[in-house]
Amino acid sequence: MIIKILNQLKNKYSAIPYIISPDKKIISKKEFNQTIKSIQTPQGFRFKTIFDSHNNSSIKNAKDDSFLIPENKLAFVKGEKLNLKITYPDDINYFKLFLKPTYRSGIGYDIHKINTTSKNGLKLCGIKINHSKLIGHSDADVGIHAICDSIFGALSMNDIGFYFPNDDSKWKNKNSIIFLKFAREQLKEKKFYIVNLDVNFICEKPNINKYRKQMIKKISSVLKIPENIISIKATSNEKIGFIGDGLGIAAESIVQICNEDTY
Ligand code: ZN
Repeated sequence: MIIKILNQLKNKYSAIPYIISPDKKIISKKEFNQTIKSIQTPQGFRFKTIFDSHNNSSIKNAKDDSFLIPENKLAFVKGEKLNLKITYPDDINYFKLFLKPTYRSGIGYDIHKINTTSKNGLKLCGIKINHSKLIGHSDADVGIHAICDSIFGALSMNDIGFYFPNDDSKWKNKNSIIFLKFAREQLKEKKFYIVNLDVNFICEKPNINKYRKQMIKKISSVLKIPENIISIKATSNEKIGFIGDGLGIAAESIVQICNEDTY
């Protein structure tokens, strides 16, 4: 549009873009069916034309430059409907409708060994379960670790071990909810929200289905997202390998996120 405006200024004094509204103006019966022309910006003028017009005009507080130009120097050029003008706060909301949302996905996987000599102390997705616990530097919550890694992945960050190294005594026996809260803060800082979260446990025992609802509730409250966008599922390893032998629990997570600045 700017090129079009500059081209017109080669042989005209001004180039005022306009669009024709599909609506009609009704003020009086006489004016019924009159077409509404809306004037847009940017407008182009030969410098002397606009400079002299401002200097010579008796009009104060003109709403538009084209208003000051003598009629014989006014020339129009076809504008563009999508040339949106942001003037009032509401215009920003309208403008956002035209922004395309950015969707991103992330994957996370984690596995921990079971301490077969322990009788209880297992924690999955923040829920205490009466079952042999997992061995790890923190509380070894595989579910939360996988969720964190999927969020970090979607945000193109490093893996969980980078932020919470397992050789740092600071994180020894720490509640993994802390890591999940860190992931939530990262989402907020980078202006993304979670579209949906899908978690899958791979283990022979315990029966995850019994704790699904509690886990969903917990994750929902920590991440501050609705329960109906969280899925927690489980599968056994069909007694194959060391997970099949009940020596470990694995979890995988996929998350989809979307940027906040769009509808
Ligand atoms: Zn882990």
